[in-house]
Amino acid sequence: MSESWHSLSISSLAPRLARREVSPVEVTEQLLSRIAAQNPALNVYITVDEDGALAQAREAEARLARGEGTPLTGIPLAVKDVLVTEGLRTTCASRILENYIPPYDATVCARLRQQGAIFLGKVNMDEFAMGSSTENSAFGPSRNPWNPEHITGGSSGGSAAAVAADLCVAALGSDTGGSIRQPASHCGVVGLKPTYGRVSRYGLVAYASSLDQVGPLTKEVRDAALLLKAMAGYDPRDSTSAPVAVPDYLETLGRDIKGLKVGVPREYFGGGLDPEVEAAVRGALATLEGLGAELVEISLPHTDYAVAAYYIIATAEASSNLARYDGVKYGFRHSGANLLEMYAHTRTQGFGAEVRRRIMLGTYALSAGYYEAYYRKASQVRTLIRRDFEAAWERCQVLAAPVAPTPAPRLGELVADPLTMYLSDIFTISVNLAGIPGISVPCGFSRAGLPIGLQILGPPFGEPVVLQTAYALEQAAEVRGRRPSW
Ligand code: GLN
Repeated sequence: MSESWHSLSISSLAPRLARREVSPVEVTEQLLSRIAAQNPALNVYITVDEDGALAQAREAEARLARGEGTPLTGIPLAVKDVLVTEGLRTTCASRILENYIPPYDATVCARLRQQGAIFLGKVNMDEFAMGSSTENSAFGPSRNPWNPEHITGGSSGGSAAAVAADLCVAALGSDTGGSIRQPASHCGVVGLKPTYGRVSRYGLVAYASSLDQVGPLTKEVRDAALLLKAMAGYDPRDSTSAPVAVPDYLETLGRDIKGLKVGVPREYFGGGLDPEVEAAVRGALATLEGLGAELVEISLPHTDYAVAAYYIIATAEASSNLARYDGVKYGFRHSGANLLEMYAHTRTQGFGAEVRRRIMLGTYALSAGYYEAYYRKASQVRTLIRRDFEAAWERCQVLAAPVAPTPAPRLGELVADPLTMYLSDIFTISVNLAGIPGISVPCGFSRAGLPIGLQILGPPFGEPVVLQTAYALEQAAEVRGRRPSW
């Protein structure tokens, strides 16, 4: 019987590939047959690129044979369907881009391809990354590998579920208000949202440009460090990408955290927090303390205003970014008696309900007479939230908090009530408003067997200390190595 390679992390697979104990083609074939068998039930992949993946695998094999590999050569990845991929359909889980084949690669995809990574296909998400459950997908919801009656979280739900169910080695996601960290928490994997500007957004289809960041979802912290290192860095094609040198993110892993000051934000432990989530998070804090970290109580006093400010800023930016889908430039078009009718029909049929709601909200918030009351006010609140974090960094080096108020809800439980869904983002969106990095690491399980993550946040470009803390927790956590029986 052939060995199974599909459950290995990047860090454990790469040396075996380099030693040529297994070939990228073998690993890719194994993953493709798992996808064929399991995707119908989990609905994780929107597009599987069998031929492309096998061709890339053969190329990787040749490169490894020449001894020219990188740690990513021959590693099969899943890509959130919001990152454009040359020649490979990119839908943003929307009808309006159902048949869109991009003529170029997003910078992150191009960089990973150059290093020899393999793209298995494009994975499911909330339409245009708007949502927290992957139920707002024109291709139907993904299902959580820990219990298929439950959501994966979102919007990078397909990425998180693909990693958890061993339908890829690691995945790319995007995080505008929690979309990497929250599904990572719900699916029991690691998800890292880098500092705004750390990773190029060129070729990331824009939702809310001042908040969007690309990042990795992985089986372990070391892989997140590895992928970030491979993706990060200045890109002249993204004017908001930071000209800041990329450190070796593997360097801080394994350093002890004795004396590290870990801030615990008081406002993140309020009324709406599920007791099982609180218990798991408190357990993780105790573990960090046991490793020598010092817990410090911190206040982030403007937390209560984060949801309101975020949903004004994000929808305002979305309403502007999504204006380009007019039935002329991209594939989907619905006819009308005149130009305006054609626009209206195309956009009404092409966008789902949540996307239309947000375009309307955002347009309203930006319109004359309301701009000062909503958009400007929200921008001012954003500054206050950023200052809350700046004050915190004077007292601690990282912050630790829950990711989501509950474990993954059941399918259908939240989607009917948009406001409750928005409120469930309370612990993740401030990070995007402030532009700082954050990671979700598995730290516990509910009694029903659903995973719970701990969120570790750091100052701008503080990924090294965030990863160091996450790695220390991962190595010590009891939940280490627990996998879904799916
Ligand atoms: N749930 C948030 C929203 O719907 C965040 C989504 C995201 O990070 N892309 O906007």
